[in-house]
Amino acid sequence: MHILVTNDDGVTAPGLAALANALRESGLGKVTVLAPNRNWSASGHVKTLHSPLRVRPAELADGSDALASDGAPSDCVALALLGVVKEKIDLVVSGINPFPNLGHDVTYSGTVTAAMEAVIGHVPGIAVSLDTPRYADYNPAARIAARVAREVIARGLPPHTLLNVNVPGLPENEIRGVRITRQGLSVYLDELDERVDPRGVPYYWIGGEAPTGEPEEGTDFAALADGYVSVTPLQLDLTAHTQIGSLRNWNL
Ligand code: MN
Repeated sequence: MHILVTNDDGVTAPGLAALANALRESGLGKVTVLAPNRNWSASGHVKTLHSPLRVRPAELADGSDALASDGAPSDCVALALLGVVKEKIDLVVSGINPFPNLGHDVTYSGTVTAAMEAVIGHVPGIAVSLDTPRYADYNPAARIAARVAREVIARGLPPHTLLNVNVPGLPENEIRGVRITRQGLSVYLDELDERVDPRGVPYYWIGGEAPTGEPEEGTDFAALADGYVSVTPLQLDLTAHTQIGSLRNWNL
C-alpha cells in the first residue's frame, strides 16, 4: 500500500507531521507527503490551469522528508496522482486540520477538497480535522486517522465517496467513541469590516465571530458536541435529488 498525505495548512504544519508519523507507525504501507508550501485554508476546490506548478523537496515540522508545491491542496493531489509521485497511490489522507470542518465548511475546506480530488482521481480519500484550539495535541487524532485508513484499505470505499473525519477537542481517554454522521447546518456569523487605506480608498475584511452549527441529532455537529469522533461519508454528487420531480413541473 502507498498512502499520499497532504493538507491545506502548509508543509510545516504540526498536524501534517503527526498524521504522516501515525500512518508510518501503523505499518499500513509506504507514506509519501506532498503538501502546499503555504497556508491554503478555506481556498475551496482549486485546479491551477493558468500558471505552472513547481514541486520541491521540503521538510515536515519534525524534520522528516516531504515534497512541497506552490499549488493548492487539490493541485498537490492531482500532481501526485498524475505522475509527479512515480509509485502508484492507493489512498489519500488529508490533514490534520486545526479547527473542525463540519456542515457547509466542506466546500470551503482545502483539507476536504484535497480528499475530493483523490476520488476524482479514482483513489479513496479521507479528510481529518481536529477541534483545536480546545485541544492542541494532534497525536490522538492522528492515531484515529490511521484506524480509519486501515478500515478504508481493508473494506474500500464506493467510487466518488470520501470520508470526512472530525475529532473532538478532548484528551484521548475522554473521547466517547465514533459516530457515523451526516452533514449538519452551519451558521456563519460573518460581518463586513470596512476600512479605508492611506489613499482614502475603502477595503474590506470578511470578519465576525467563528461559525457555529445546528447540533441536530445524527449530524457531524452533534457528534463533536457530544464528545464523539464524527465520520461523514461525502459524495461529489451535489444534486438536490428531492427537487428533480417538482422542478419538472415548472414551466421551463
Ligand atoms: Mn486549514
